[in-house]
Amino acid sequence: MTLQSDLLALQHSDTHLDQLRHRRAHLSERSDVQTLEATLADVDAELEKLSSRNTDLSRSQQRLEDEVASVEQKRAEVDRKLAGGTVPRELQALVDEGDSLRRRQRSLEDDLLEVMELAEPVAAQLAASQEQQRDLHGRLEVARSALSTAESTVDAELREAEAARAGAAAAIADPLLKEYERLRARLDGVAVSELVGTTCTGCHTTLAAMECERIRREPPDALVHCEPCGRIVVRP
Ligand SMILES: [Zn+2]
Repeated sequence: MTLQSDLLALQHSDTHLDQLRHRRAHLSERSDVQTLEATLADVDAELEKLSSRNTDLSRSQQRLEDEVASVEQKRAEVDRKLAGGTVPRELQALVDEGDSLRRRQRSLEDDLLEVMELAEPVAAQLAASQEQQRDLHGRLEVARSALSTAESTVDAELREAEAARAGAAAAIADPLLKEYERLRARLDGVAVSELVGTTCTGCHTTLAAMECERIRREPPDALVHCEPCGRIVVRP
């Protein structure tokens, strides 16, 4: 292996690793999971609102039912006193009290009906959202499992590619490896380009014929850089 082919092999290894890492980060299974998680978060928030509204309405309903029961109890007492009463003035007072309690009860029952009408759609929405939440949990579990499988597949390829990269890097002397890494960091991951015809594959610049000739005449173990982009150029 020559210095040039060693450098090119290292570049190919790194490009392959970059592609695998990009693939791992952009797996469609990952975006499926993210979409489901976002939907689930919305449903959770909606459920919290519905649940709190449902609790408020249930409390109002309970309070009104208790009041109705208490008014009914008072009315029964008034009826009992009426049945046993004999003094006309007292009887009239009891009749008036009975009428007042009946009006109070009707008003409470109207309020109760109103609350029950409000509660009905809230309870239905709550049940629907709970069903949706269960469904999403199920789908999320499936999606997460699919993501995990897809990740494992890429991870196996990554381990292989990392081993290949370590082998390729071992062939390069340390100072040159450092320069290579610096170039890679600065130049979008591509430190080594090829001269194909008169074009640098790194920056796609067509080099002047004289420049190409100069590059080709350099000894095989000489490091040559593409002037426009600064990459290390390997040549046929
Ligand atoms: Zn170039």
